[in-house]
Amino acid sequence: MSTPSFPPASPVLSRREFLRTSAVLAGAVSLVRAAPAAEPITDIHQHKSYSGRPDDKLLQHQAAMGATTTVILAGGGNPKSVSALNAEVLEFVRAHPKRVYFFANARTDRPDARAEVEKYLKLGAIGIGEQKTNVPCDSRYVEILAELARDHGVPMLMHFQHEAFNTGFERFHKILEKFPTVNFIGHAQAWWGNIDKNHDQKVNYPTGKVTPGGITDRLLADYPNMWADLSAGSGNNAFVRDEEQGRGFIERHQDKLLFGTDCSDAIGQGAGCIGARQIAVIRRLAPSKAVERKVLHGNARKLLGIG
Ligand SMILES: [Zn+2]
Ligand SMILES: [Zn+2]
Repeated sequence: MSTPSFPPASPVLSRREFLRTSAVLAGAVSLVRAAPAAEPITDIHQHKSYSGRPDDKLLQHQAAMGATTTVILAGGGNPKSVSALNAEVLEFVRAHPKRVYFFANARTDRPDARAEVEKYLKLGAIGIGEQKTNVPCDSRYVEILAELARDHGVPMLMHFQHEAFNTGFERFHKILEKFPTVNFIGHAQAWWGNIDKNHDQKVNYPTGKVTPGGITDRLLADYPNMWADLSAGSGNNAFVRDEEQGRGFIERHQDKLLFGTDCSDAIGQGAGCIGARQIAVIRRLAPSKAVERKVLHGNARKLLGIG
């Protein structure tokens, strides 16, 4: 083995050279400062005080994960009533302008649901949801808030879960047809299970190969006002159970998919963070950098005008 040859040691710099080098270095530093920040990521599905997580930990979680813009949905893993949460969420959002936004929410089977949601839409909410009430997904209850979404020009995020929330998912196309100007965002177990044409409705976290052409696949293909929220274990499962179909799904619906996390951990990294895992899945399965950017940020920007 021959001895590696090293470049000759630098001679001691003259004062003139030193000044020139310093100027170059200073320029390099200012270039670094002027460089664009890390690629923006918008998380469209987070919760305040989720499983008791303090607000500073929520913000740290989002930063560690790389989310530059966050949408807080009232409800989700919080024992307080949804209505009591709207006021708390508004206060939090106002303390973090241009970084944190919110959707207004209420249990849609409550008589004051419409008034409650409208109040917070007027106070700056940019959507309605997540809607998570045990009512049929095509019932009058859902229509009342869909009318509000239509009148205020905001999207509505739906948690679909078999025999639990927004039931009868196979009839949701009726709402899409009745409210063609309202953008609906699908989320949760029944939404993601139904990417598979052979989905067993009783199974919340199906495994194994997916046969494309399920209800979810068709709604996204056929209705311009149907969007998908990739958050939670259900969203992650939809891709990791069959990565090959996951690739095709992202390619087919690349203009409709919105990154979200719905995660309650305080870390924002590693195996315990579903959001961090989902970012890795999107980066791995997206057919191009441009598609990855749409899913992680661009589609949310287009739909919600934020980030
Ligand atoms: Zn949910
Ligand atoms: Zn997380």
